[in-house]
Amino acid sequence: MGITMNLFDYLIQNARRFPDKLAIAHGTGPFANWRELRQRAEKLAAGLGLPPGARVAILSKNCPEYIEILFGCWAAGLVVVPLNAKLHRREVSELLESCGAARIFVSDDIETCPDWHATIIGSEDYQSLLSSAPIAAVDRRPDDPAWIFFTSGTTGRAKGATLTNRNLMAMVAAHLADFEALDATHAILHAAPMSHGSGLYILPYVARAAAQIIPQTDSFNPDNILDLCTYYQGVGMFLAPTMLQRLRRAAERSGIVPSGLRNIIYGGGPMHLEELKRCKRIFGNRLCQLYGQGEAPMTIAGLNRDDHWSDNDSILRSVGWPRLGVDIAIWGDDDTPLPDGVTGEIVCRGDVVMAGYWENEKATNDTIRNGWLKTGDIGTLSAEGYLTLQDRSKDVIISGGSNIYPREVEEVLLQAENVAEVCVLGIADEEWGENVAAIVVATKGITLDEAALDALCLRSLARFKRPKTYYFWDELPKNAYGKISKQTVREQLFPAAGNQS
Ligand code: AMP
Repeated sequence: MGITMNLFDYLIQNARRFPDKLAIAHGTGPFANWRELRQRAEKLAAGLGLPPGARVAILSKNCPEYIEILFGCWAAGLVVVPLNAKLHRREVSELLESCGAARIFVSDDIETCPDWHATIIGSEDYQSLLSSAPIAAVDRRPDDPAWIFFTSGTTGRAKGATLTNRNLMAMVAAHLADFEALDATHAILHAAPMSHGSGLYILPYVARAAAQIIPQTDSFNPDNILDLCTYYQGVGMFLAPTMLQRLRRAAERSGIVPSGLRNIIYGGGPMHLEELKRCKRIFGNRLCQLYGQGEAPMTIAGLNRDDHWSDNDSILRSVGWPRLGVDIAIWGDDDTPLPDGVTGEIVCRGDVVMAGYWENEKATNDTIRNGWLKTGDIGTLSAEGYLTLQDRSKDVIISGGSNIYPREVEEVLLQAENVAEVCVLGIADEEWGENVAAIVVATKGITLDEAALDALCLRSLARFKRPKTYYFWDELPKNAYGKISKQTVREQLFPAAGNQS
């Protein structure tokens, strides 16, 4: 049968080495130690009674059972399909159909679960799964799928990135090598949704017997997170940049960064330089940045804690260097490599790159070329090996034939005092094709002066890149993962037209 491996082996090892140590906590209350977690997962695997390779979806807020469901499925050789808990019922239906889910686990607060073979987490039905006699974990091969990660799919049909055991183990190795050497004295606090980045981070932490802490608050609550970092020691977490900004503000307000807060890995969306500098002032040597996507889970490039000490803005503005086992290149329109410093599409290869999109050969062939994953992101590689992102190719504004990268304009506007958040996008224009518009959120209680913002742009940017129109909003819409949703911004700007460009 060749090499076999199962992600469940992590749990077996922990149950042997640290049977009585905390494995999962809910807030400050213990939920399971490693021995109990292994037993619960093995019973769940038996109770499910599904053949290896079957898909099991999870539509749930963060909860302690999330982890035993993942490992229970892996023990039985099943493929987990964590879904964004904020999806519409129709979207959930489509995803369940497209992956042919045999069962779905749902948390009791969710009202959008379609008529499917559903089990409410914590219900009697759920408990009866846990009363089966435990089974031994089945053998899996490196290239067997373990996780289907659905892309946000803001346009068109969402695609399921099929992540194999090999992909996830490569992600674990890169995390432990590049970002943090973990052990059983550490913990991860799941402040972001476990259906996405925080869920993937379960793996490197379980691989080194670090405890899993699930906050009791349902939505992201920075004050509660700081409290938990006072209660626990050695805490790491994954945050989207917008969440990090909120945590930074809460820490500033309270005047304390708890000693238990050890590491924050942020990424999944742009971190602007000015905000990063503010975070550095508050959190010091606790920051790592990741650049990745569902198709190469959490692992394309990164800045480690030492990199964050740099005073060099071009390093801080970058998304870092290639992660362990990952090659990065920049390609031109004809899929040929471009020299250092030239802007093009970011591509990468390595064991982290997904097997393909679930049952979608066309999308797979469009995205993986000769083993290279086309990320759809635009950027440059410096001679020193740092990768800098411009934008998603679809977000680039073309005005009067010139390309304008929204991110560059956003970086400038964020330097203005009292600009809290900004979103720059193109608005259709008969004469220019597109014009630059900026939607700006001011610090609470402050009124911003458009002329001052324009003067700032004139000092730092080519004239044609300046926003022609400003909108001042109280807040910017974010998706379930804390990313600013440009699509929703457009819909709010032009309700009748929907998407303008
Ligand atoms: P997802 O697959 O939903 O995790 O989204 C991945 C996309 O988020 C990437 O293709 C990038 O466009 C963006 N992204 C991820 N990490 C970063 C980062 N560190 N800086 C800027 N954008 C990022």
